[in-house]
Amino acid sequence: MRHLLLIASIGTLAVPANAQSLIDEVHAKRCIESLASDSLQGRRSGLPGGEKAAAWIAEQFQSFGLKPGIGDTSYFQNFSITTAVESGPMVLSAWSNSVGARRAVPLQCGADTIIFQYSKDFASFAYGGAGRVQGKLVFVGYGIDAPEKGRNDYADVDLKGKIAIALRGAPDRGEGFWAGEGWHGIKLATAHAAGASGYLHIGDGKAMQRTVGVENYRKDFPAFWVSRQACDRIFHLVGLTFDSLLARSEAHPEGYHLELPIEVSMESHAGVIENAPTRNVLACVPGADPELAHEIVLIGAHMDHLGINAAGQVLHGADDNASGTAMVMELARNLVADPIPPRRSVYFCTFAAEDLGLMGSEEFVAHPPIPLDSVVTMIDMDMVGLGDQGVDLGGWPNFPEIAEIWSAALSDSQKARISHSKPGGGSDHASFEVLGIPAFFVASAGDHPNYHQPEDEAQYIRPETLAEVGDVVYRGLRAVADYPAPLANLNRLTDYLWQNSETAMLGAPDLPMRTGDDHPDLILYEAGKTIDPSSRNRLRRLLVEIEQMDSTLALSKNQIARVDSFKNIPTGRLNPALALGIASPKLVENEPEIYRTLAKLGVLFVHVPVDGRESYFGVRGMKKGGRDLLAQLDAAPQQVIWDVGSFKQAQQLMDAATRPLVVRIISASDKNTAKSIKPNGNDFLLVSARVAGQLSQEQFESLAQAIGWMNFGIEAANGEEAKPLLDLWLEWGYKQGRMVNLMGGNLIRFLANP
Ligand SMILES: [Zn+2]
Repeated sequence: MRHLLLIASIGTLAVPANAQSLIDEVHAKRCIESLASDSLQGRRSGLPGGEKAAAWIAEQFQSFGLKPGIGDTSYFQNFSITTAVESGPMVLSAWSNSVGARRAVPLQCGADTIIFQYSKDFASFAYGGAGRVQGKLVFVGYGIDAPEKGRNDYADVDLKGKIAIALRGAPDRGEGFWAGEGWHGIKLATAHAAGASGYLHIGDGKAMQRTVGVENYRKDFPAFWVSRQACDRIFHLVGLTFDSLLARSEAHPEGYHLELPIEVSMESHAGVIENAPTRNVLACVPGADPELAHEIVLIGAHMDHLGINAAGQVLHGADDNASGTAMVMELARNLVADPIPPRRSVYFCTFAAEDLGLMGSEEFVAHPPIPLDSVVTMIDMDMVGLGDQGVDLGGWPNFPEIAEIWSAALSDSQKARISHSKPGGGSDHASFEVLGIPAFFVASAGDHPNYHQPEDEAQYIRPETLAEVGDVVYRGLRAVADYPAPLANLNRLTDYLWQNSETAMLGAPDLPMRTGDDHPDLILYEAGKTIDPSSRNRLRRLLVEIEQMDSTLALSKNQIARVDSFKNIPTGRLNPALALGIASPKLVENEPEIYRTLAKLGVLFVHVPVDGRESYFGVRGMKKGGRDLLAQLDAAPQQVIWDVGSFKQAQQLMDAATRPLVVRIISASDKNTAKSIKPNGNDFLLVSARVAGQLSQEQFESLAQAIGWMNFGIEAANGEEAKPLLDLWLEWGYKQGRMVNLMGGNLIRFLANP
């Protein structure tokens, strides 16, 4: 009965007469008004508002004439979630306590007490629990406890009965260095383990609503996000500022903390509900072509949002993501009403629990209601109702075949307003993308103010934006759904992994760069290949060549950028970076000051090629020629990439070197000795794909463990070389992150952070 009452109160959407127009933005906006109304209470999955929204969407699909998507009988994929809830008021106050007296009575305040406003100044923190605590405030820098990486903000600090406050993020040490410790969930766990009774996390602007899952939940540990502004007000109590404490943290790379004469009181009612029933909604327009109808185009958006916050405000989620949900419904309504049915089957899904951590789409791929092998394209829309900068279309470069079909269906003016954000996580497409399914993420480009705030309301939604996004997606959906040849690709996961890996290539033969299947993120170009090593005036010759390089680069600025330091290597897929090096130390033999001159010109590495190795390596160790070259290269500020022909030579080189090297194994007949490799300090081992492909899993992994997984990489000149290895790694059960790192990510990080 409740459902029926609700449906009556939010109305039914009448189909207008012009049902064949591409997108009816007025209709879409009315749909958003319904979904973002107070009566749906912020559509939190697992709570009544979210489940009512799901029921209403299914009703609408049925009224448009779509078929049920689950086994021809149901629109619902049921599952259950454990979800965070806030069951009472959240309180945060602070006052100075410069006399240092301990207060015996909990929640007693001083005369200068600041009482902060929930949702404006602070919000409950992912994984924080419930409780009332009061204690001294201790600033713990970045909140990192990782002495093995050289930083411990918690060294010799007593946090018993005190409240820790930490900066977000981590000091800049290059991408990926603090991947674990810089994450807010780990920071909370670190503060908890250090004995603090509460935790404050400094955000970069407005306080953010609690959004993520509960796997790291600490039941009795209150924790809040605090805005920068609120944080400044706290520190001002004792004459400090956020900036001054940030500066101190930066000035102490080994770690920093400061006990402050400030007392903080926190009251939190954050908790979890376990096993709350929820559901995805799935509907279908069957394909009409008997040859192609088994292939599926999946159009999706998350329908859920964050519910009601602890201050009692409805988080309406009009842009996030009533807009995408309404768009799914509008596209479905259009397609089913079109007199020409699609060739392929098109499924429309509204996912639950995305804002709680992609739970609905993860359920979809874990227990697929339709065969995932048949899904040839997935398009996810998230936040498509605001902004006037066109359409942001993520995933395009990763899946060029589908992108081409889609692109051909767009007008030139549409193409001119499409941008391609970096592919990756963030919304439901990610659950499909990691399986290699061509998955695209669509958002409207431009400002999305009020993200995760109560003010994300339907009245601000721009109908023009809905119309623009809707038209781009509908054209893409029809183009793919009607494409005349089969699109299923059995190797799509390997293809995707290759496309999505970071790759560095040594020696790009022709400039400007080619595009297509091969996509080096970093090209290590060797100058001096053409110079006769015996020629006089070698420096002058090198300079001429570098100058020529520069003018070639100037002609192809959009494709290649020469980097002036390994610290600034950009790794974007469409914009490979070029590092310039010298092809052989022979070019500068006995003239070590040339290295320094060349370094100033941006020449970043020296390559020691494999020919000539007879004079470097002997039976028992490095020969004099090799040791002399090492000594000469000690003076070079450049990175050294040194080719060897066996694992034994690799070991000799690492034993003799006094500086970190990239040891590049380009051939090896002694693969049985691979696992006994012992690095000498921070060396990097780069193994050619041909050599790596000959190693057994045991040999490969012992080698990786010996050198360290992060200092180990594979070099493949192209996809043809790389893909058999990726297939092997898939068989070995490697996770995507590991494969991407091995394929090139590790090397790029190593070069950027010597
Ligand atoms: Zn969203």
